[in-house]
Amino acid sequence: MEIDLGRLAANFRLIREDSPAGLEIGSVVKDNGYGFGAVAVANVALGRGAGRLLVSNLDEAAELRDAGVSAPILLMGERMEAELPACLELNLTLAVGELAVAEAANRLAESLGLALAVHVKIDTGMGRYGVRWSEALGLLESVNSMPGLRLEGLFSHFPMSDESDKSFAFEQIGRFQALNGELEQAGIIVPCRHLCNSGGFLDLPDAHLDMVRIGLLPLGVYPSKVCRRIPGVEPVGTVKTRLAVVKKIHKGDNVGYGLRYQAPGERRIGVLPVGYGDGYPRVRNQGHVLVHGKRAPVIGANAMDSTMVDLTAIPEADAWDEVVLMGRQGESEITPHDLAAWKGTVSYEVLTGWRSRLPRVYLDSASAQEDSIQAKPEPAGSIGV
Ligand SMILES: *Cc1c(COP(=O)(O)O)cnc(C)c1O
Repeated sequence: MEIDLGRLAANFRLIREDSPAGLEIGSVVKDNGYGFGAVAVANVALGRGAGRLLVSNLDEAAELRDAGVSAPILLMGERMEAELPACLELNLTLAVGELAVAEAANRLAESLGLALAVHVKIDTGMGRYGVRWSEALGLLESVNSMPGLRLEGLFSHFPMSDESDKSFAFEQIGRFQALNGELEQAGIIVPCRHLCNSGGFLDLPDAHLDMVRIGLLPLGVYPSKVCRRIPGVEPVGTVKTRLAVVKKIHKGDNVGYGLRYQAPGERRIGVLPVGYGDGYPRVRNQGHVLVHGKRAPVIGANAMDSTMVDLTAIPEADAWDEVVLMGRQGESEITPHDLAAWKGTVSYEVLTGWRSRLPRVYLDSASAQEDSIQAKPEPAGSIGV
């Protein structure tokens, strides 16, 4: 898996330029930065103006701190009481949606003479973390009065921000803004209010508020087909392998487990040394890879460590030639959305599904790339170095 850090930096710059002045960019680097490397993505994000990082669990936050990241880190989700000392030690910002957690955090921080920054999570319709919008004022007033806590943020999340029908998102924005009005009336000032993920950032400018939380978009992947595009934002990750074997098979020969493919005539096939053990979808006679810039269809059922493709229409293909599983080769491209369709899932799971077995190779075309972001990145000639 090649990760182009120059392209990532360019994407963050284009996103910054697309944003209204004063909007804080929060870079979501949970699940190892969607598989791209949390520390690598975080460092590029912070270098390109992101003000904050967001992760989902304590280990993810600790990894960033261990790597020397000193920027604010918002820990999303909810915490067990036993995790609170580490949150203080790592100087994390806590998401809170439950009074009991707020009380425990307050007691601990107060006993240490500290004030822990807190973002109160509001459930405006996602139906998972957070206090229900209609019942949130009490929790907010309590948190605001606790000496060990500093009420810094107020946030919520959209279950449907990237589809054409935005009616539920507008409903949620209304609920959030009503609560915000109640807070103002109560004289409670919350400096960092945030609602938007990538879909909301692109399509719901009224919901930008003080900060957006974006994970997918900086990687050059759009959350859906219908959301707005930012010209120049391009995919950062490419997954490559090579043809381990190229051989001829005869009419009636079978390929792969379950005998799912039988050659209708003489065929030239290739064997790729990757499979679902690397995060490639488990497919049967479905999908394709790119060889010499052309589509080679997958034949038969692939396995943990191998995937077979039909090369009959690509006579120039030879053993150890480069094969692209995700990304561009020549004029052709396989997107995470293509892979998601073959895998029966969404692009998010395709990205996070590439296993650690695939080495991550960082291409740092940084400054050159940044000076001419219009230029397409050169297809790199080597893998696994
Ligand atoms: C993952 C996540 C995000 C980021 O979503 P993207 O669509 O990847 O930008 C934002 N907010 C919350 C609460 C999340 O869990």
